Amino acid sequence: MYEKIYSNPDIYKIYVPLPNNPLKNINCYVIKTDEKNLIIDTGFNMPECYKALSEGLKELNVDISKTALFITHLHSDHIGLAPFIMNSNSTIYMSKIDYDYLNNESPEYSWEALYKKYISEGFPKNEIVNMHITNPAEIYAPEKTFKAVTVNDGDKIKIGSYTLECVFTPGHTPGHTCIYIEDKEIMFLGDHVLFDITPNITFWTGIRDSLKDYINSLNKIKTFKIKTALPAHRENSLNFYDRVEQILNHHENRLDECFNILKSNPGLSAYDTASFMKWSMRGKDWSEFPMHQKWFAVGETIAHLDNLKYKNKIYRRFQNGVYCYYTF
Ligand SMILES: [Zn+2]
Repeated sequence: MYEKIYSNPDIYKIYVPLPNNPLKNINCYVIKTDEKNLIIDTGFNMPECYKALSEGLKELNVDISKTALFITHLHSDHIGLAPFIMNSNSTIYMSKIDYDYLNNESPEYSWEALYKKYISEGFPKNEIVNMHITNPAEIYAPEKTFKAVTVNDGDKIKIGSYTLECVFTPGHTPGHTCIYIEDKEIMFLGDHVLFDITPNITFWTGIRDSLKDYINSLNKIKTFKIKTALPAHRENSLNFYDRVEQILNHHENRLDECFNILKSNPGLSAYDTASFMKWSMRGKDWSEFPMHQKWFAVGETIAHLDNLKYKNKIYRRFQNGVYCYYTF
């Protein structure tokens, strides 16, 4: 299922479902020209995604031998099918930082290390055991690696007569990169700015303060002239610049919320701080949250606590195997 969303250049959106995932779908964009095409993002490495994307590409008569792929960031719902829909000699563009992150085999970048980190932030051990088997990010990642042409901020990619610029927007992932057609004021946003959901910001191994990076990247993207803003998930339902302001405010409010929770309840872990925060889960109580939602909520809470910590508003102590946070 595809939809034409722009002419000159011809841009199509293929609707790829993400079953059992609150994101609902990923929008895979295709820029078609007479000489060359570009696909942007792919969906999970799962049969439902493969079917939707490969059928969409077939309906659009996309000749893969004349097509490159651009990946906005390393998440499995964006890269999962990269090695399967492309040929072994296709060009796959991806930011150098995310590509190196994905392929980093040192133990501190492993799933094991990540699960340990969550336990040190108060996540219950028995729930972590289940995560290992059911975490979609882990199980729907591409099981084989792929070669990529790595890109940096400001690099240009030519597709037919159109020039696309890589816009480095770290925060959602360490190397998240949007792609911009300056003459047409079109920005492919990946997950940097989403419209009816807030992009998840979590901590990353080796990154000091991912929320700070994200806020800087929101302030950066505001400076671009954008008439057509194309998010990787769901619809674009608001004015782009208004939405950026909303997300900036959201994080300011979240930081205040975290600080106030710790002020009233000194010594909470990140997990327990998350349990006091307001989440838009259709009125569900924290104890009823599905484990995967708790996982994202705790990651998001850690990112906010890191930001407060580096602003010297809070500090933490390691007590009985868990980090406990206090306000100054
Ligand atoms: Zn993402």
